[in-house]
Amino acid sequence: MTTALQSLDAFLESPESRRDVTRAVRVLLDAARSMIVVFGDAQTAAALVAVLAKTYPAKNIHGGLIEVNPTRLTTMPVQAEARDLADVTPTQVLRSMLRQDPDVIALTNVDAESAPLVLQSAFTGHAMIVGVAASSVEAAVEALTLAEPGLAGHVRSSIEVAIEVDTGRIRRVFRGTQEVVSARGQVMREALPMPAARGPTHTPRFAPPLTSLPPASLQPRVAFLPVTSAAAVARSSIATTAAFRPAGSTWPLCRACQQPLSHVVTLELSALPAPLTGGDGLAQLFVCSHGCDTTTEAAPGVLAEVVTGATEQLEAPPEAHIDVCAPGAIVDFVRFEEDPLVEGNDHRPLRCDKLGGWPAWEQGDAWPLDDDGARMELLFQLAEEPVLQGGKSAGWDFEAAEVVPGERPSVVLDPNSPRHFNSLLSGSAVAFLFRGATSGRLAFRWQTG
Ligand SMILES: [Zn+2]
Repeated sequence: MTTALQSLDAFLESPESRRDVTRAVRVLLDAARSMIVVFGDAQTAAALVAVLAKTYPAKNIHGGLIEVNPTRLTTMPVQAEARDLADVTPTQVLRSMLRQDPDVIALTNVDAESAPLVLQSAFTGHAMIVGVAASSVEAAVEALTLAEPGLAGHVRSSIEVAIEVDTGRIRRVFRGTQEVVSARGQVMREALPMPAARGPTHTPRFAPPLTSLPPASLQPRVAFLPVTSAAAVARSSIATTAAFRPAGSTWPLCRACQQPLSHVVTLELSALPAPLTGGDGLAQLFVCSHGCDTTTEAAPGVLAEVVTGATEQLEAPPEAHIDVCAPGAIVDFVRFEEDPLVEGNDHRPLRCDKLGGWPAWEQGDAWPLDDDGARMELLFQLAEEPVLQGGKSAGWDFEAAEVVPGERPSVVLDPNSPRHFNSLLSGSAVAFLFRGATSGRLAFRWQTG
């Protein structure tokens, strides 16, 4: 698949030497909110307008690219083939689109018929990318204001970016009246707008470092897929907002940020199927979801303990709620046997939420050791990354002259590979709760791929 940058490069004659020009145009396009005028020979201007529309940087927009002779419409962001609309004029398509309040409209060639409507669109807050057959910015302004010459000053000042093209290449670029790309192809970096901050503001969390540990033995191990039910009540549960805790206690807090920990899993050890069955007590894992240290069971953002004695059900404070799919009481354990991960073998332990079995290491073995030096056994594994299903991208219904809004995909639980936690640790981590056979202690580790 070609990237947006490559598509723009391909438009230019000598991509490597003109990479800076390509980047400058992309940055300007990203920052522009009103008029972008491509002027020069009609054919090159039209081609560049089409490329800019198809590589438009913002994805959460709706709009369209209108091509002329014959009239064709492509929705933005581009999802489908262009639609031929030979029996209507570009102006009619533009008028029809405006009823839907689009964010961006690209029109490959402005003519006397479409110019007034192009201006009206730009003045009413729609970002416009238009091609004009003109030899200068002034001539382009003149072509746009033929019907109303009095608007020339206003139009000149609303042109945010002007790109001069000439026989298949970009010649000069202006931001307002300021030259960004000179006729010699030199980019004035100081004339480029500062990019806006993007993306998540949270601090990424990195998996803890590996320790070197003894090699695994190779027998299959029994494992179980947990089946949860939101309606049922059981002492074993996954990601429920209520949890059984020592009688008289309060909801556990993170020892770093003092905020409530999130309940990951509670396992009633005596009720687990063989060979995982243990003595009395609840093995519990709580994790801080506010970015604190969660590297091991000893980290301040982790509580991994076996609770014995009298318990009572506590309800989690709202700050402890996390993004989970199908939390609930564990009502069934689906048994299967699992081979360990062997070098050169593509048979991998299941990377999902499970009890027992082999750890689906992402970065190689990192077994915690029990007091007697023996490897602890895997009690519970959770794997992040939600399974998404359905969803539709937005489209343009020309007959109804309206944008058909997209639908967000929903997070579903795959019963053959359940993953309850969408983004507890890093969003793509596999985490392991181990139990020592000798000490009965719990250990916590996690890795990312
Ligand atoms: Zn914390």
